Amino acid sequence: MDRLVALGLPTVPGITIPVPSARDLTDPAVARQVVDLMEELVGRQVGGGDHPMLLRLLASAPMAASGLPPQVPGIGLTPKNATSLADLIGRQGDLFDIWASVLRLVAEDALDVSPDALEDALDGVTTEAGRVEALLAVCATKGTGPVPEDPADQLALSATALLHRWSSPRGCRARRSQNLPDDLGLALHVQAVHIGPWQRSGIGTASSRDPDTGAPIPTGTFHRGVRRSALPTDASGEPLSALPGGIDLLKHTLATLEHHLRDVAEVTFELRDGKLSLLSATALGRPTPRAGLRLAVDLANAGTIDRKAALRTVRPQVVQELLHAQLRLTGDENLLVKGLAASPGAARGLVVLSPQRALELAAGGVPTVLFSSETTPGDVPALLAAVAVVTTSGGLASHAAVVARGSGTPAVCGASELRIDTISGTVRAGGHTVREGDIVTVDGRSGTVYVGEVDIRPAEPPAELDTLLAWADDERVLRVRTNADTVRETEVALRLGAEGIGLCRTEHQFMGDRLPVVRRYLLAQDDAAQREALDALTDAQCEDFQGLLRAVGNRPVTVRLLDAPLHEFLPHDGVYEDEAQRTRALEMREVNPMLGLRGVRLALLNDDLYPAQAEALFNAWVMVSQEGITPQLEVMIPLVSLPEELVIAIDQVRKAADKVAEQTGVRVPYLIGSMVETPRAALLADQLAMHVDFLSFGTNDLTQMTYGFSRDDVESRLLAGYVERGLLAVSPFVEFDLEGVGALVAIAVQRARSVKPTIKLGVCGEHGGDATSIQRLAPLGLDYVSCSPQRVPIARLAAAHTVIEELL
Ligand code: PEP
Ligand code: MG
Repeated sequence: MDRLVALGLPTVPGITIPVPSARDLTDPAVARQVVDLMEELVGRQVGGGDHPMLLRLLASAPMAASGLPPQVPGIGLTPKNATSLADLIGRQGDLFDIWASVLRLVAEDALDVSPDALEDALDGVTTEAGRVEALLAVCATKGTGPVPEDPADQLALSATALLHRWSSPRGCRARRSQNLPDDLGLALHVQAVHIGPWQRSGIGTASSRDPDTGAPIPTGTFHRGVRRSALPTDASGEPLSALPGGIDLLKHTLATLEHHLRDVAEVTFELRDGKLSLLSATALGRPTPRAGLRLAVDLANAGTIDRKAALRTVRPQVVQELLHAQLRLTGDENLLVKGLAASPGAARGLVVLSPQRALELAAGGVPTVLFSSETTPGDVPALLAAVAVVTTSGGLASHAAVVARGSGTPAVCGASELRIDTISGTVRAGGHTVREGDIVTVDGRSGTVYVGEVDIRPAEPPAELDTLLAWADDERVLRVRTNADTVRETEVALRLGAEGIGLCRTEHQFMGDRLPVVRRYLLAQDDAAQREALDALTDAQCEDFQGLLRAVGNRPVTVRLLDAPLHEFLPHDGVYEDEAQRTRALEMREVNPMLGLRGVRLALLNDDLYPAQAEALFNAWVMVSQEGITPQLEVMIPLVSLPEELVIAIDQVRKAADKVAEQTGVRVPYLIGSMVETPRAALLADQLAMHVDFLSFGTNDLTQMTYGFSRDDVESRLLAGYVERGLLAVSPFVEFDLEGVGALVAIAVQRARSVKPTIKLGVCGEHGGDATSIQRLAPLGLDYVSCSPQRVPIARLAAAHTVIEELL
């Protein structure tokens, strides 16, 4: 209350008598002075006049203590004024009820009326007025004296009663049980209670921000005509807009408090005859994401805190919540299944069990949720057409998860309890069966799928988010790029603040109608057929690259040459173009595809593959450069484990550049780089560095290979058990493992820089968009992180945090 008074905020007018002087108030002469002072202070008369007031006496201890004496609220009431005051209030019962409780306390603790006498006096009395009459009479006859009518005498007597109750054996026992000193004193507070019509009085609670929008609009409830001691706990009450006299003062009060507390403020207040007074004020502590963000920006704009402090108060995870649609759960939902939270956001749609059905329905504008055991590049068009995807297998770095995150589609992966029966067209889990065509709701943030419709709150990031992220950009040193394979993804990422593309996975461009061509290439029986397929791919790629390069503009763009795990590209559906293709596909099938014929290995077996891709890329660059767009091209070789592999691949790229230069007369400027995603590449980073301009850590594969955890299998089957048993705090595919994988990255950074101090180093695994991982990766000395488009804002803020927290 002292702080509220110092801030000039409306508090209950009153006088505090500190502990050492509290007993003085039992002296009627002192009480007289206090009453006079109160009347002067408030401008009202106790118990009478046109604008009457009563006094309230409260006790407080100098340290937290329970069992304090009750408050005495009706000082100043007499048989002469009670009826007219009750008429003014408009509710007789309330006033007499208060009066009776005061009289009882004074009778017991100040006038020595015995409990028996009190009981006898009240026996059979049913009305409040009757109780008051009986108590006044019993005090006069069985007590040490009648209840005085002078308010000063009443105040002195009330002080006597409170102090007596505190020093009673019951009061002492209560203090001992709390390990409080026996002689702990009390301070007394005399407060004014304005008397007026009950409609202009009441009690309420208010928060300085609307939790839903974060706007600085007082939000809470007003309970008209309700006394302080009777605040209802239920949802009854009126909105604050109904406050008699308006909410301007409350709004100003809450705004002042926010600046003082540097947090969302919560208050309880009372209104007495239209006069607002704060009863308590606290900092909320954990505001909603919207309220926290808007408050931080408002406080910094007002100069209450600096921008660094504003940045510090907003956790990067909060940004994610603001950027994605969210469910409004009521607790009545029917849970179908819980899996891995693979891509945030919420959506609902009709269950579909085949990519074809998803495409058909989506073409007609029907929202669909695609259920599948796993997905492959052939399913990408359907994945992009669906509003959400649910898979039964595969982890956070599985194909479905990566594609969904890239396109901003909510996804739940590895929901292994789910039984999909495509024959009967049903999905079963958790005692529920849903059919194709039924509605389900997917929450990709928590990894849950619900039967039926759940209310969804659309993503509406407040304008303050852009302001805060711009401040983050001023602080951070780590650059933030995006993993984008399409024009759409690139545009989204740039809008969200990406500084360029850090990873374009070219295999993601081989989907839909391109897939049969890739298969023809991979499964070709002879050189001519393979050449024909490659030419078709090259033309398609050149087109794709032009779109991508135009979208990225003059920014850096890292194009990774093909890294196609074969199992994702070989036919799954048993549909082969001919018997020869079937035989070849079976020959090529691998037991361990993620450790098999992928990345640079495929290019070494098919030495026309990377040259064709590089040629398409360089030609695309030449074409867009003629439009005045000159992206900073970076070509990256994936899954390297031998420096010799890198040398061969680089040579292929160089020859392609030479060829394009010869054909077009334009020498395309480009940097060459290698991914570091096998432990051997990390350990041999110095040898790799000698040949390249940059290295990019593929922490998805590096985590997979360091732990020996299959990124497609362990998350849904194994890791939950590890987390449950405390072996891991969280999946290392989610939060970067500093101890193991981090040791490899640290060695690689040190070795690479030892031979090439200026080499550019980045991370393009999923960890590049995870705030905790960025916190761990930044000190290792990287230049940039690259992450899926929707996580770019998280990375920007997390990167700023690494700097700000270092400064602390
Ligand atoms: C990685 O392994 O971290 C990476 C970025 O490559 P991909 O996820 O495509 O294997
Ligand atoms: Mg990889």
